[in-house]
Amino acid sequence: YQAKRDRTGVEVYESKRDSNTPDRLGLLGDLRRALDAHEVQLHYQPKVRFDGQVAGLEALVRWVHPERGRVPPDEFIAIAESSGLMPHLTEYVLETALGQVAEWRAQGLFVPVAVNVSPRDVHIPGFAGSVAARLARHGVPAGALQLEITEHVLLEDPQRAADTLNALTGHGVRMSLDDFGTGYSSLVHLRRLPVSELKIDRSFVARLAVDAEDAEIVRCTVDLAHSLGLLVVAEGVEDDETWERLRDLGCDAVQGWLVAAAMPPEETTAWLLARGSRGWQRPAAVLPATA
Ligand code: C2E
Ligand code: MG
Ligand code: MG
Ligand code: MG
Repeated sequence: YQAKRDRTGVEVYESKRDSNTPDRLGLLGDLRRALDAHEVQLHYQPKVRFDGQVAGLEALVRWVHPERGRVPPDEFIAIAESSGLMPHLTEYVLETALGQVAEWRAQGLFVPVAVNVSPRDVHIPGFAGSVAARLARHGVPAGALQLEITEHVLLEDPQRAADTLNALTGHGVRMSLDDFGTGYSSLVHLRRLPVSELKIDRSFVARLAVDAEDAEIVRCTVDLAHSLGLLVVAEGVEDDETWERLRDLGCDAVQGWLVAAAMPPEETTAWLLARGSRGWQRPAAVLPATA
């Protein structure tokens, strides 16, 4: 493998993208052990509304390999998906996230958490029931959990996927459609999936302020989502101008480095406590002068 250093000086693992290299198999074994040893962590990134209120947190998995350094989620999730380890990883993430939600609730922090699930998970028999049982075990109401899915869930057996998702929403779990616009997006998919939120992919948000076509795509997506009664979240918001454009386009909430990157649990707790009921405020320096 090759390693380079990222901005924070942490080593970042970069694989050659072929599928069954010894390297990849080694990583798979290491991931399996890391899950058993609880070395895989969750970080949390806020979703905030334009009035600053925290709409929720997204749990994002983080793995620092003892020798290779930080392995990007996209890398090891692909490995987990192609190897059959994915259900185990998802159980681990759900278990960790719900434990954290319960802990926050005990501290008076009633913030919903979104967990990413892979298409595979949705096709596991009994998935909806196992999520409901896990919620009950942690004493967490279903409304405090959101699951982020992508349209890829409909590729395999659309009817079975829809049944599972309907069972989940029947339990009170909210569904969010992630990375919208990147794959097989179509109105048919949108109508078929019982989602209450749509997330516009970062690839459209990133250049929103400078690219008229991207701006148009975002505008249409927001309007489409609203006409279907869905909330719209924009991901990857990094600067003020993008924030303002999204607000003007009627987007409901944003996620991105402008607000906060994904943070470890303790830092997230501090972030939530510091904001309290005030919510997130843009730094004073960038607010328009009012006096
Ligand atoms: P995603 O669910 O679309 O998550 C958004 C990704 O964008 C995250 O990358 C997040 O750290 C990054 N991001 C957030 N704000 C910004 C920003 O302002 N600028 C830029 N450039 N990036 C931003 P991350 O954490 O590397 O995760 C990548 C993907 O891996 C996720 O995309 C998701 O599909 C997957 N993933 C992460 N955690 C899990 C998990 O627990 N289970 C599953 N199945 N997939 C996961
Ligand atoms: Mg997501
Ligand atoms: Mg996304
Ligand atoms: Mg994305």
